[in-house]
Amino acid sequence: TSLSLLSRFKGALVGAVLGDCIGAYFEFEWAPSIEKEKIVNLVNKIEAESKKDKKKKVWEFTDDTAMTRSVARSLIAHPDFSSVDMAKKFTEEYHKEPDRGYGNAVITIFEKLKASDYKDIYKPASEQFDGQGSYGNGGAMRISPAPLLAQREEDNDKITKIELTDKITRLTHTHRDAINGAVMQSLAINLALKCHEEVDIDNFVDTLKSDMAKVEEKSRSKLPKPDTEDGAEVEEFPYCKVLETVREYAKQEQKPDMKDINDNLGTEISALKSVPAALFSFLRASKYGDDFKDRNPFERTMMLSISLGGDTDTIATMAGAIAGACYGINVIPESWQTCCEGVSDAIEFAEELHKLQGK
Ligand code: MG
Ligand code: MG
Ligand code: MG
Repeated sequence: TSLSLLSRFKGALVGAVLGDCIGAYFEFEWAPSIEKEKIVNLVNKIEAESKKDKKKKVWEFTDDTAMTRSVARSLIAHPDFSSVDMAKKFTEEYHKEPDRGYGNAVITIFEKLKASDYKDIYKPASEQFDGQGSYGNGGAMRISPAPLLAQREEDNDKITKIELTDKITRLTHTHRDAINGAVMQSLAINLALKCHEEVDIDNFVDTLKSDMAKVEEKSRSKLPKPDTEDGAEVEEFPYCKVLETVREYAKQEQKPDMKDINDNLGTEISALKSVPAALFSFLRASKYGDDFKDRNPFERTMMLSISLGGDTDTIATMAGAIAGACYGINVIPESWQTCCEGVSDAIEFAEELHKLQGK
């Protein structure tokens, strides 16, 4: 296709920023879904605001973008990955701007890292939740620069996107579901970089599912099983299983009921109950207009992902990264870009990561 890799890189990183900034507007409502009128009104407001010459309102980014920026900056400085550098960047960024809305537990890690002078980089994360590790979506929400850096098949004999994603995620999240959720998000971005205009939903899900089957097979033996409160059996292939539900809701003719999405995919703070919703939003919006018929597929992805409610900034940031990787920067409205904080940095990071291709 004529869509360049650079355009897709910019699309992915800008899409991620926009999802966070725009989605964050509804984050504290924590509603089971957001009415479409509210989202349309917000987007209209952003578009009106962008036309002002001065005193434009700026929609600010949250922890999702703060951490993604550190991932990007660290990978650009150390393309072979430096755990110490990345952990330092996360920690310093947090201490510089602690009010970006970080998860409650993750900040303990930053305190411990700083106090220990970065001695044992992976230890604080492994101590979270009595050694169970965080299952939050904080690993998945920030991963977008990694699949861009390691997008080429040839890179897989250096550090694969899966290894890279795993190492970045473990700095804060050691729970199986948090790591595998970040891996699924990473693989989805990578697949989206190769998509043509028309997204083949079945093909996308099939490819992702076969990769995730290997990932989940591996983590069956390698990772401690998470214990569940009620002592119920632990699902061994939770992501493979939910991918079938994603496929079903993405493809069905009828617009899915938001309650069903909430019940069966989830819009929560955990990776397992938010990464699938982001992927669903991208896939569904590639094919159907539903409530946002007058919008392009990128815009629809963003608006649909926010309308699911719950952890809106994080689901939208993940959906935005996938959609941006698929459609490129040119379909992303200028007006949205000028009103959201951190867009020009994201474009710079995309350019730097693109320069590193083939090195
Ligand atoms: Mg956030
Ligand atoms: Mg590489
Ligand atoms: Mg969030």
